[in-house]
Amino acid sequence: MSELYVYNTLSRQKEKFEPISYPHVGIYVCGPTVYNEAHIGNGRPPVVFDVLGRYLSYLGYKVRLVRNITDVGHLLGDTNEGEDRISKQARQERIEPMEIVYNYTQKYHHVIDSLNVKRPNIEPTATGHILEQIEITQKIIETGFAYVSNGSVYFDVAKYNEKYNYGELSGRVVDELLNNTRELDGQAEKHHPADFALWKKAAPEHLMHWNSPWSVGFPGWHIECTVMSRKYLGDTFDIHGGGMDLAFPHHECEIAQAKAANNGIAPVKYWMHNNMITVDGKKMSKADGNFITLNELFEGNHPLLSKAYSPMVVRLFILQAQYRSTIDFSDKALSDAQKNYKSFINGLRAIKNMVYPIATTPNPSLQGGEFETPLLPKEGLGVVIDTKVEEEVKQTIKDIFVALNDDLNTALALAHLLNLLKKINIFMSNPAKITTISEEIFVELKEKFVLVFEEILGLKEETPKGAFYVLLDSLMAQYRLAKEEKAYNKVDAIRANLKSIGVVVKDMKHAIDWAYDE
Ligand SMILES: [Zn+2]
Repeated sequence: MSELYVYNTLSRQKEKFEPISYPHVGIYVCGPTVYNEAHIGNGRPPVVFDVLGRYLSYLGYKVRLVRNITDVGHLLGDTNEGEDRISKQARQERIEPMEIVYNYTQKYHHVIDSLNVKRPNIEPTATGHILEQIEITQKIIETGFAYVSNGSVYFDVAKYNEKYNYGELSGRVVDELLNNTRELDGQAEKHHPADFALWKKAAPEHLMHWNSPWSVGFPGWHIECTVMSRKYLGDTFDIHGGGMDLAFPHHECEIAQAKAANNGIAPVKYWMHNNMITVDGKKMSKADGNFITLNELFEGNHPLLSKAYSPMVVRLFILQAQYRSTIDFSDKALSDAQKNYKSFINGLRAIKNMVYPIATTPNPSLQGGEFETPLLPKEGLGVVIDTKVEEEVKQTIKDIFVALNDDLNTALALAHLLNLLKKINIFMSNPAKITTISEEIFVELKEKFVLVFEEILGLKEETPKGAFYVLLDSLMAQYRLAKEEKAYNKVDAIRANLKSIGVVVKDMKHAIDWAYDE
């Protein structure tokens, strides 16, 4: 099998993935600022880096994934210079900032869990690491790359840039930043408009504050990720992930802080950034009315949506794009993803129940769901291996992993998985065709289809409530009985009832089963 290559934003090219300390892989992903409900754009990084973690685990690495919770210091505005987001929300709702944090952390966990994203190995919070943030700020002052001004501490970008390269990640040029920075609060305290806060003196109305050597205040946003990634993953770790919008200033600042505090040692080997999500071709914004939260999506509760889309449909939709491509959310695109999802689940149910035919007598007690093996000898009579079909199956399985190894191209991997699904569908409607491939290849197809779909891509059948299956089993039993009794009016009525709950009867020569209506 070929090796994994990932696109490194730092080098602007795909690089062979080689962990710093095999077999361990450390991944840090910037988590949410917990002051409002997660929107569809917030769903992408957890899903993308969940698949990365799952795939690395499959490849045999021991993965430690750290995803933080930002519960202080992330200020409003593009340049992170406005009011603290959590503090402001708390003031507006007239509750404690920690109530805001607790409430939205719970909500975040709920929606991200429903997307079948594994919980990170460590989920540190910024407020849980104030001491470490003060310590590293002190260190950066000592190394001469930060200065105290009116109780706040700022990173000295110009000075840093004399020795290192501020802009190495994002490609920004410090001189240009001078001209592009607007006049904002605190600018007068800085030496250079591009300087950013490591510690901010708290205004009297600011609800979250701690003692420090410089003032009663709070840490800057960027320093928390430097501190927490280093604490749990080491001075230099393998992969830092996040949305592309975080590359500047957030990640650029993380590199600068780490190098300033640690003799120029680069904190991260591979920087990976997922691209953004648009809605109907436009950037999502509350003003344009195209701001959709994940909950609204799951409930179909938004003017732009014709119906609800389940978390697994959304997950599949996200993975149908390679993570460095933009994704355009639209009702139509989601509807297409929903169809695809149902096809995959029907295929998944079918292949899980399918067995390689063996010479046996038909078992009349077998019913749908359990795949009935046709009367076929294993060798000799009736078995004709079609090497072309075998080759197609083998090549398709190979192609899936080639796609995943090529910078986690889940879009292409899913396209190849769809080709395997076509084979499964042929086998389902005509089990005799299974013997066009050898048992060995059949087992490989079955195992890899389930592995890639469930374990690597993290997709699964969204099991309806237990009562749904009880009802379904009972209706299917009635259907079979009506069929035996040749009560065709009854057969049609049951078929219509099932259709109305999104289930179709698959009345095949060899078995009667049901499938999700695609
Ligand atoms: Zn971060």
